Amino acid sequence: MTDANIGKMIVAGAGPVGLTLALMLRRAGIDVTVVEKRATVNLQSKASTFHASTIDLLETCDVLDSMLAKGTRVDSVQYRAPDGVVLAQLDFDLLKDRVRNPFRMHYEQGELTTLMRDLFVKEGGDLRFNAGVSGGEQDDAGVTVTTEDGQTIRAGALFGCDGAQSFVREAVRIGYVEKPYPGMVLRLYAQTDMRQIFPGLGGIAYLHLRDETCSLLEMPDCWRIVVRVPAGVSETEAMTDEWVVDRLRNLLSIEKLMPSVSGRDVYSARSRRAFAASAGRVYLAGDALHLTNTKGGMNLNAGLHDAFAYSLAAVESFACGDTAPLDRAAWERERVARCILLPRTSENAGTGSERVKRIASITTSPEGAREFLAKQAMLDMLGGVSPELVGTGAVHV
Ligand SMILES: Cc1cc2nc3c(=O)[nH]c(=O)nc-3n(C[C@H](O)[C@H](O)[C@H](O)COP(=O)(O)OP(=O)(O)OC[C@H]3O[C@@H](n4cnc5c(N)ncnc54)[C@H](O)[C@@H]3O)c2cc1C
Repeated sequence: MTDANIGKMIVAGAGPVGLTLALMLRRAGIDVTVVEKRATVNLQSKASTFHASTIDLLETCDVLDSMLAKGTRVDSVQYRAPDGVVLAQLDFDLLKDRVRNPFRMHYEQGELTTLMRDLFVKEGGDLRFNAGVSGGEQDDAGVTVTTEDGQTIRAGALFGCDGAQSFVREAVRIGYVEKPYPGMVLRLYAQTDMRQIFPGLGGIAYLHLRDETCSLLEMPDCWRIVVRVPAGVSETEAMTDEWVVDRLRNLLSIEKLMPSVSGRDVYSARSRRAFAASAGRVYLAGDALHLTNTKGGMNLNAGLHDAFAYSLAAVESFACGDTAPLDRAAWERERVARCILLPRTSENAGTGSERVKRIASITTSPEGAREFLAKQAMLDMLGGVSPELVGTGAVHV
């Protein structure tokens, strides 16, 4: 449907997904307003893993140098037994023919949000805090949004990047299906250099012992140690030294580790997907569209892929005055979430020695290792988006 109004767009939510989308729209010459419920951006420590597929896309926004300056570059992933034996080590360099940046990066989500906010504002973007979407309506020609601070904004499209509890998703009555993952997850922040305990440790390593798994992530200022809290253990109990020591006794050298633990938190995870990514001129992205567990660090990465897909499609829609490209992008992002992201992350959440044996056997050949790494780097979740298309206005789906 032809509509002159498509030239103005609204992004609900100044999280990492909303701000990345807004920056890309702004740079494409589209008039965009971001409305955010909070008084500032959220700096809570959440995502820390950025995969090669996403790094290549972010590079097109000229943010890679800033990210590398504050992040940790990780060149391989290891699977280890707790006694230190390396069961499998896979070097991201195997992906060098498929990506520009064959590595993984550990970098705080809040840093990316801040970076994107600063760029958007510096480049003249319209960002309004204390302005949560509180109502709205749409017709054939556009969307009218009202915000908690009493503003009314009219645009050709609204992007709901307003997180897991998305008001926008609820307002357009898009339902979802969800399933909690059993138990919870405990994160410890340790100042001990884990390479003192495990010489030659990769920047990301998974320790496996029978049904126990523990992930070790090297961050710029600490090592993050992530363990599962089984169902039946309360959050209060999981936060105690006694529980942590007991849980980790078989996996880590506790004597060296515990005194250096400077922080810890516990969270639960659920898988959720919206039944559709669009309703009329309203499009969902990021946590508003999909949620999953944190093993393998994929949900924000997929949200950033959503943002790039919509930014490319919006340029096409803008050029032809038609929402069809955006509608196609929404269809594709919902398909990727349902058919790839959620099944892959459920599989990643699997624990135990059997899983490691399987990984070790499929990665004995370079081809097997390359395919495994390509999937862990989410190269098959881009849904037709590629760094080469960013800025060209080319049709992508
Ligand atoms: C402990 C933890 C670790 C994680 N680790 C990883 C990882 O390593 N890799 C990975 O890929 N993912 C990871 N994730 C997932 C990742 O944090 C989320 O996917 C990410 O925050 C999604 O970004 P978003 O912009 O979609 O939503 P959010 O970050 O939730 O941002 C949504 C924004 O919308 C605003 N908002 C809410 N309601 C309204 C409204 N009505 N109007 C306007 N604005 C509104 C909110 O205030 C917020 O600023 C992790 C999550 C957790 C909890």
